[in-house]
Formats: sequence, C-alpha cells, structure tokens
Amino acid sequence: MNRLFESSNAHLIADGNQYAPSLWTYQRRETIPVQIGDLYMGSDFPIRIQSMTTVDTMDTQGSIEQSIRMIDAGCELVRITAPSVKEAQNLENIRKGLRERGYNTPLVADIHFTPNAAELAARIVEKVRINPGNYADKKRFETIDYTDASYQAELERIRDKFLPLVKICKEYGTAMRIGTNHGSLSDRILSRYGDTPLGMVESALEFLRICEDEKYFNIVLSMKSSNTQVMVEAYRLLSKKLTDDNFKAYPMHLGVTEAGEGEDGRIKSAVGIGTLLEDGLGDTIRVSLTEDPEFEIPVAQELVRRYQFRAQNSTPIEPVQLAEKQLVSPINPFAHERRLTKEIANFGGHQVPRVLADFSHNPHIQMEDLKAIGHFYLPEPDKWVMNDLGADYIYTGKYAVDFMLPNGLKQIVNAENWTGDPHVFPLFHLEDWQQANSKHVSLNFVAVNAEDLSELNALNLETVVLVLRSENAHQMAALRRAFFELIQLGIQSPVVLQLSYPNVDADQLQLFAPTDAGGLLIDGFGDGILLSMPYSQDKNALMNATAFGILQASRVRISKTEYISCPSCGRTLFDLQETTARIRQVTDHLKGIKIGIMGCIVNGPGEMADADYGYVGIGKDKIALYRGQEVVKKSVQADLAVDELIQLIKEDGNWREPQQTN
Ligand code: SF4
Repeated sequence: MNRLFESSNAHLIADGNQYAPSLWTYQRRETIPVQIGDLYMGSDFPIRIQSMTTVDTMDTQGSIEQSIRMIDAGCELVRITAPSVKEAQNLENIRKGLRERGYNTPLVADIHFTPNAAELAARIVEKVRINPGNYADKKRFETIDYTDASYQAELERIRDKFLPLVKICKEYGTAMRIGTNHGSLSDRILSRYGDTPLGMVESALEFLRICEDEKYFNIVLSMKSSNTQVMVEAYRLLSKKLTDDNFKAYPMHLGVTEAGEGEDGRIKSAVGIGTLLEDGLGDTIRVSLTEDPEFEIPVAQELVRRYQFRAQNSTPIEPVQLAEKQLVSPINPFAHERRLTKEIANFGGHQVPRVLADFSHNPHIQMEDLKAIGHFYLPEPDKWVMNDLGADYIYTGKYAVDFMLPNGLKQIVNAENWTGDPHVFPLFHLEDWQQANSKHVSLNFVAVNAEDLSELNALNLETVVLVLRSENAHQMAALRRAFFELIQLGIQSPVVLQLSYPNVDADQLQLFAPTDAGGLLIDGFGDGILLSMPYSQDKNALMNATAFGILQASRVRISKTEYISCPSCGRTLFDLQETTARIRQVTDHLKGIKIGIMGCIVNGPGEMADADYGYVGIGKDKIALYRGQEVVKKSVQADLAVDELIQLIKEDGNWREPQQTN
C-alpha cells in the first residue's frame, strides 16, 4: 500500500481522484447550460464575471447607481442582498429603474435565513442565491447525535421548507445558486461530517437532491471559504461527487470569501480562484474585496482572460503513468499534505517554504537595496534588522556583493562565479552538476526544467535543492506534473519554484504568480519560491511582497497578520473600508494573528470561523468583539472598539509593540 492510501482522507480517493477533465491539457469542465434572464452560463459560454452591491437595498437610487457603475465596468450579473421581505420587494423597484435606464443585466437576490424573502425575490429577479447552511436552519452551535432515522426526518423538514422556492423558480424560469459557505455550515452537517470540504459538498447536495427530484436543473453551485485550501478541496470534491453520484454537471461559481483588501485580497483570490480555473473548473467568478464592487471587476477579468488562448498556446503535457489504474495522480487532491522531502539546510522537511529574491540583474547591489526585501541597515547602532517580510536568500547571478549581508539573508550565485566561499551557495545547471569539481559541502542549488527530470535519478542529490521551472504556457500543470514524476521516481530533494514573468505589469504579477504557485503549494508542492521580472528597483519590493503573500494565502507560511474582512453588502452596519484600514494600521505587525472584520451579526460570526479575534457590527455604532467564536465584549461603542480590540489582544498576551525599521 502506498502513502496515498494510508492518509486520513483515503476514503475520498478509494474510487479514484479525478476531479477535472484533464490535469495535463487546459480544458473547461463540461457543464449543462444555465439560463439567467438573457444570460447563459456554463462550459459553452465565457466565464461570467459578477459582483455584489454594497449599498442598503432599501436605497433604491443608490442601488441603481452602484449597479450601473458595476455593469459599466463589465459586471455580467449583479447580486443584491435581500435580508427580509421588504428588501426582496424593493428589488422590483431597483430592477425597474435599471431596465428604464437600458440595463438588462440579470439581478441575483442574496438570501440568508429568510425563505419568505427568497420566495418573493424569485418572482422578481432572474436568480436567487440561497445558503444551504442557513436556509432552513438556525445556528445554535450544537453537536447533535443523529440516528439515520432522525437525520432522515431532518431532511424531510428541509424539503418542506425548500420545496415552495423550487416550485416558484421552476414556474418563473428563475435560476438558483446553492451556495455553501464554509463558515456557515448547519449544526446537522457539522455533527455528521465535521467542518470539512466533504461537509460543504454534502450541505449543497442535500438541497440539490430536492431540486433534481422536482426536475428543476437551472442551478449553479458554489463552495466558498476564506481558507483557500478548504475552498479548493471542496470545489474539487464537488466536481468528483457530481460525476460519481450521477448528478447533472452543474456550472460552478467560484469565490474566496472575505479575501480582504488591496494586495492581500487580490493574491488570496488568485490563489483560490486561479488554482481551480487552471484545471478548467469554474463558469462564473466573483472576486470579493473590501473595496467598492466596481474595483473587483478588472481583477476578475484579468484572472479569466488568461485562459482565452491557453489550450492553443501550451505545449502538450504527457500524463504520468500510475500503477493504480483508478488514479490520475499520485496525491490526494482533496486534502492538503506536504510532499515528503529531506531537510537540506533550511529547505524541505518541516521547514517553512523559503523566499528567494532575484537580484541577478543588479550589478551594484547596495545596502539600501535590501530594504525592498525586508532587511534594513541601521547605522546607529550599526546593525541589521529584519521585518516580517525579510527574504531568506538573495540570488545575485554573476555578481558579487561587496558588503557583509545580514545574518538572516544568504547569497546564491551562479556556479561559474562561485569562489568557494562557504557562506555563499552555488547554483548549477543540471548538465554541469555531476561533473563539477567544486561543490558546497552542505547546500547546492541545481536548476532543472520540468520536462528534463528523468536524468535526476542517476545523480547524487544529497546536498541539492532543485530550482524547478517550465516554459510551458500551461505552467502550473507542467510544474505539477514534474512533482508527480519526482514522487514516482522517489526523489525527495526540496524544490524551489522558479516563476518568471518577463511581460507582465505589477497588477498582473499579483494575480498570475499566485495562480501559478498557489495551486502547487495547496497540493503540498514547493519548498521555496523565486519570482523573476525584468529588473527595476521598485519591482524587488513587489516581488518580495507577492512571494510572501502567496505563501500566506496558500497557508504554508504565515508571516503577517491576516485580515478576514467581509466585502460588505446592504446589511453592513459601519464603514468597512475605513474600519479595516484603521484596524490594519494598528495591528499589521502582529504576525500570525487572524482578525475577522465583519459588517453584520447575521453572517459575520460564521464567516470568520477561522479568526482569532472578531470585530462584528451588531447595530448602529455598536460593535461586538470576539475571541475565536466566543463573544467577549457584547456591545462596544464604535469609536472605542479598536482600542478595546487592542486591549483584548493584550489581555491574551498576543500583543507586541511595532518594531522601528527606519
Ligand atoms: S458579513 Fe458582511 S457581506 Fe456578509 S452579510 Fe454581513 S455585512 Fe454582508
């Protein structure tokens, strides 16, 4: 029996681990078409871009104006929250106002907890989104022991509550999204399946079975989470379950919930959404940023545009051959498990993945330049300090550095320029490695193409960290195949992912590199990351921040505070963007702490299930503060809440003062 079948989630792959049409060639997963007003969705149509309004749904004019800004930016479906019947009713006015202004874009009502609002909205707008975790259930955070009979009785109760909506949707031609959120699974699902990707999938399937029994198929499915590993695994598992259990192939709506703002939000969204798009999963996407919704649209468009000519532009990749016929790859794609590697210096084994900074285009590296990669020289008191984003290695190519590097930063040079200095490490070409006369005693880097691995088996790799790259346009798949081959060959050398972007701008780098590296890291592949772009002074900081951001978003190396902030919607009770910025300003040095910032009490606590601390709007100017899932300060005046949050972090001994670096 191999390692794969010994893993704790082995039951998920016992009957195969195929979840995408191909792991080798870019190909959209084939789906049925879904009609949403005049818009069609599914594999025969482009990947649709959507977003959600943030103004109060009762503000008709505000909702119309914001929807128009979104549509003008390229939004193809506009989602609007309908927390109660009165908002559901007002969708009629918003829809009418938009149609009068010549905008026919389909509207989607976002429903939580309120079947009567859903039933009304389904008669007005083109699509309703329901959350199976709270459509028929109130959350009590209880663990219940179900017998098969009592579980069945629960399913009957859900059927009674849900059936009227299905019938209305069928009658009115309204589409539906059954949208599971990791943070709001019902007590019933949690009790039976736990807080797992399988629980997320089953949560949707309970509702889907009812729809299929009624012969209602105009359905889109989603499996969102703010944890990218969980999110990717859940979508993959959904794809497999739909096939294995003979459901129709419904289109998928992709999204990472509460991704946050700015650079972090973009990187996290790209890791989650991009990883799935690479495998042809996903028919519509929403990038959730804590910013105005129209700013989400260009990010989503950029993510999707990459796949327009992917199949035509990439070189065919040969599938790996496996002994177990039912498997397409030698890993479990439904559970994160790091590839087994030998520890070499500070790479591989239990070491966190390392960040390597590319300075090979800079012939005159100055002390000042290292600020961009998190290392600061302080003349007074003549020492180096490092911030949380201090790179681990600097690759200088053929150039020397004429000052002493800080302790935390080691240098790599091309093997032909290596002088034998034990504090500097050589990078060899694969073809030169075996014959080389001069090698470092403990750490050598060997550059290798993803397509040339077969020769590795014959080499002595005892001190080697591989630096892996591919020129293939379908780069992630080519690199992933190389990792499969390393597993097959039994090679346990750590691997640095080398990703080069000669023709992209800063915004594109923050989307493309996370897509390419994120999928690999989520699958447990990669012990370091080296990003390259054509040289310019400011790009070093960008590449360094992106590399650390990718590792953080893939949850394989936590180096900064994580913010799980909701994108806001019509329920939001305070200015989320301003509050998030204020909280970030005072806490962004608290490495490893996760802070949830949620606009409302209805969904907030569930959505930030992963956070260490929570800041949740409960009423006008009133905030509740959470420690994990527990409310510790029930009703704090909004202008005092940030100070109270800091106080809470201090009480727990998790506070430290920010370090001065310049
Ligand atoms: S948590 Fe935020 S986005 Fe979600 S419903 Fe509440 S206010 Fe809206």
